[in-house]
Amino acid sequence: MEVFAEKFADIKILRYSVPEFEKLELNQKIYIYYLSQAALCGRDILWDQNNRHNLAIRQVLENIYQSFSASRETEEFDQFEVFLKRVWFSSGIHHHYSTEKIPAGFSETFFDELIGKSDWTAFKTPSGQNFEILISQIKNIIFNPEKDAKRVNLESDKDLVYSSCNNYYQNVSQAEAEAFYSGLKAAAGAEPVSFGLNSTLVKENGKLIERVWKLNGKYGKAIEQIISWLDKAKGYAENEIQKKYIGHLIEYYTTGDLSKFDQYSIDWVKEQAGDVDFVNGFIEVYGDPLGIKGSWESIVNYKDQEATKRATILSENAQWFEDNSPVSPEFKKTEVRGVSAKVINVAILAGDCYPATPIGINLPNAEWIRETYGSKSVTIENITQAYFLDSMGNGMLEEFAGSAEEIERAKKYGYLAGNLHTDLHECLGHGSGKVLEGVNTDVLKNYYSTIEETRADLFALYYIMDEKLIKLGLVPSIEAAKAEFDAYLRNGLLTQLTRIESGKDIEESHMRNRQLIARWVYEAGKAQNVVEFVRSEEKTFVKINDYQELRILFGQLLKEIQRIKSEGDFEAARDLVENFGVKVDRQLHEEVLARFKKLDLAPYAGFLNPVYELKTWPCGTPNDVLISYDEDYTSQMLRYSKEFGFLPVEN
Ligand code: ZN
Repeated sequence: MEVFAEKFADIKILRYSVPEFEKLELNQKIYIYYLSQAALCGRDILWDQNNRHNLAIRQVLENIYQSFSASRETEEFDQFEVFLKRVWFSSGIHHHYSTEKIPAGFSETFFDELIGKSDWTAFKTPSGQNFEILISQIKNIIFNPEKDAKRVNLESDKDLVYSSCNNYYQNVSQAEAEAFYSGLKAAAGAEPVSFGLNSTLVKENGKLIERVWKLNGKYGKAIEQIISWLDKAKGYAENEIQKKYIGHLIEYYTTGDLSKFDQYSIDWVKEQAGDVDFVNGFIEVYGDPLGIKGSWESIVNYKDQEATKRATILSENAQWFEDNSPVSPEFKKTEVRGVSAKVINVAILAGDCYPATPIGINLPNAEWIRETYGSKSVTIENITQAYFLDSMGNGMLEEFAGSAEEIERAKKYGYLAGNLHTDLHECLGHGSGKVLEGVNTDVLKNYYSTIEETRADLFALYYIMDEKLIKLGLVPSIEAAKAEFDAYLRNGLLTQLTRIESGKDIEESHMRNRQLIARWVYEAGKAQNVVEFVRSEEKTFVKINDYQELRILFGQLLKEIQRIKSEGDFEAARDLVENFGVKVDRQLHEEVLARFKKLDLAPYAGFLNPVYELKTWPCGTPNDVLISYDEDYTSQMLRYSKEFGFLPVEN
């Protein structure tokens, strides 16, 4: 399977593989299949939530794309195609990230030609609307920059609700919406439902009412489909508690009752035994400037056995790592417990997780449920892997790595080493060490998170080169550690600067911690030439001359950073962060930016889903699920519109 699929505008489309899907039990495969159908059925909901004209615009654009009879070999048609691809990517006419309206890139005259030379005989206008009126409305939205300019406006000098053209509020001002929901919250107890999460707030005849998203309510046609697939899935659930929470979810979709959603969330958090898991509902609230309305999304996933085993091995040996670290004895924990992390693979992405997707999940969002019942936090292995594979082919490595040997090592061990670094950082690093009695780490103030991330990273860097990891069977050879050292310094000293604007310093704490570590070991090892900058053909590279000595330096810095945390030494924290983590070498920064620009990489990425096929032949009952990866971007989008276009278009 090829990871890279295509590139347009500022976007690249990638594919993720679904590792070892074939090895899952038949019941699990069928369970995943039904859940993935439930996931795809909600697509139109998100489109309509993003803007009330999106579904009508999508229908018009797709009809043009499929029936335009004049030449497609023109610059303007190319632009039209790019526009359509961008609209698909964003589930609507606004950029998925900036939320600003996507510029058409072709003229209004050309749009008239597209309309004139396409076949509209089978096209149904929304609720019997006049075709000419519909087209003129759509033209106004596409070509008038003032009309529906931004999906989510967060500039507080304007009415946030009126100035945002999402579809969560109708004829309602910010003040009215805020008053409405703060009234509901004030009347609720200590365990409030997520008021307003699943409804459109509308003013009708001077009164505010909620149009609830439920069966027989708004979005009912799509929700009906979701329910029917969830119901089928329920029969293949792995255990009773999964069955129970699917039941709650169906009740919630049927009634719109938010307390059912809380019951679902509580049981969902409790369920840890199964391998297959999913999210399906109105979840994240970033699409609403008031942070109340949940955009629809779904992800179906299952446990990655190998990666989870890796994290478990580390966690079981946590005490050994603590006892043998270079940290002073008085700052070590006598009894340490590793955190066992769960690693998953996604099987389908949908709604607000498609095509752009997160690399981790941390839910539920309700604060009181998190406090009482905890939360699930997972990393998505196959998405991370797709990003890694893509990064190996996009030219970044060749541009910034100092030697052919370094490139070779990165390709061979980089992925494993990167994952192991993350595991060491998360499962052991953060949990190691102890703070002296009477010390409150709050005294490190704004430097706390940089120091804490530095500590966890150093723990990982120090141990990734330890013989112990080879003994535990986690790495094949010391070469993996070398690949991680190369990558860490290359990033900390060079490539992460591509994310900083010219003239600016580093602010984000993970970026600060990476430069702090890289700069510090560079300076500390200068006399012995452990790490050096080398210049070749006007370009700067990082060269590690002594990997063992570098490991010792990581250990020394770890010892000091642990002391700083354990004693709450604010001055030392400040000096380290300010001297090594914040300031950027201007000349080097400009050079890195120029080299990066030449690579012309797309800043945003999204993923195609695989295609699942349920086999029921010859006896009519499901007996296998097949998976394939050859569907291209345009085919997938058109198929989803055709097979999962359940909502009536209103305009
Ligand atoms: Zn961390």
